[in-house]
Amino acid sequence: MQDIRWNAFWLISSLSVLCLVIWAAADAEAALIFFSAGLFCYLIGHLYWLHKLHIWLKKPVLNHMPNGSGIWEDIFASLYQEHRKNSRNQTQLSSTLERFRHAASALPDGVVVLNSDNEIEWCNPPAENQLGLNLRQDQNQPINYLVRHSDFVSYLQAQEYGDPIKLKSWRNPDITLEIQLIPFGSKQKLLICRDVTSLEKTETMRRDFIANVSHELRTPLTVVGGFLETLGDMDGAVPESSKNYFGMMLDQTGRMRRIIEDLLTLSTIESNVQSPDDNEIDMAKLLNQIQNDAKGLSKSLHKSPHRIHLELDANINIKGGQEELYSALSNLTSNAVRYTPEGGDIFIGWHLRDNQAVFSVRDTGIGIEQQHIDRLTERFYRVDRSRSRETGGTGLGLAIVKHILSRHQARLEIESEWGVGSTFSIAFPKVRVVQKITEPVV
Ligand code: ADP
Repeated sequence: MQDIRWNAFWLISSLSVLCLVIWAAADAEAALIFFSAGLFCYLIGHLYWLHKLHIWLKKPVLNHMPNGSGIWEDIFASLYQEHRKNSRNQTQLSSTLERFRHAASALPDGVVVLNSDNEIEWCNPPAENQLGLNLRQDQNQPINYLVRHSDFVSYLQAQEYGDPIKLKSWRNPDITLEIQLIPFGSKQKLLICRDVTSLEKTETMRRDFIANVSHELRTPLTVVGGFLETLGDMDGAVPESSKNYFGMMLDQTGRMRRIIEDLLTLSTIESNVQSPDDNEIDMAKLLNQIQNDAKGLSKSLHKSPHRIHLELDANINIKGGQEELYSALSNLTSNAVRYTPEGGDIFIGWHLRDNQAVFSVRDTGIGIEQQHIDRLTERFYRVDRSRSRETGGTGLGLAIVKHILSRHQARLEIESEWGVGSTFSIAFPKVRVVQKITEPVV
């Protein structure tokens, strides 16, 4: 390819040589006129091709590109190649996009692509069906204007998309939808929506079965436990030789009653489709109560009780169901007491981290080996069965915590080191945080 500077240099040098020849042959005036005329023609030539380029750029059709001459021939040739490469890339991109759309349209699940402002960029027909959208009309509309279910709006705002949410379809209450948001690219999101009605029915049957069995067992167990306690209180009713067995009977009925109570709590929380309360909770009061409960439990279990410290930011409250959250937080604290040898330290914390409110319980207890951590919230999963039984555990505590947290769009974080201690933290999303404004001191 010719260099435009070289081209200009060559032309001006030739013109200058010719001028010198004319000057030598005729006079300086004729040489100057010849030089000016030459420059003028050179300029006119460039202006002509610039004009052609300008006209072509208004309607850049490849076949109508001018040929050019001299340096312009090279410029137009490069432009032609670049343009061809771009249109080839564009064709490839469009066909890939088209193939993706065909594949996504064939999916049985609903798929919606949202931009960083949660506006609908694209959705497939099942999503239109399940969520009541219309791509033509609703493109570029914010999804929360169209899907106005309060649980979905909280899920979208909470920006905690680890777990999907289930909700009753607002178009047909017999249908249950499972919705999951998956962030991708630069703050875009993929919304996956699935009809889980039949799965939900099976799940409901399972829950009902457990709830019914627990209910049926509760009454006979209460009767048996009550009689055992009465017998124990009656002087001489239990022969000295059987006192050992009698104590075991009392312990086991107590344990069964606790399991039944926890199973009933779990099934009540699981079957509750209503969102938890949105009342502001006085966290300072709640955490003081939790600290006192933990001290009480520690005293009842050990001769030398634990030191239970509380460090809280009293300016942070959260919105949620008071009873459910009390149950979740006290479950974690009672675990810390039960799995920390007597005299150990337990630190309860409440503070703000990246706009999220974080509750934490750090203990100096037995700790948990890494391979167990992911499974702790499964029902009846215990690292050490005998230890759990000894301290009155049912193996259902963390499963209850997990359900309560998912109803509050909160996340459970577990860090632990075997033989050193554990930290259980709950991160509540920004939307649930209420920050009290402190009055300036005058
Ligand atoms: P459990 O009633 O048996 O305590 P949970 O569901 O509350 O049941 O806890 C599940 C298991 O997790 C426990 O059996 C125990 O092995 C382990 N675990 C929970 N909290 C702690 C803790 N703070 N330190 C050590 N292990 C713990």
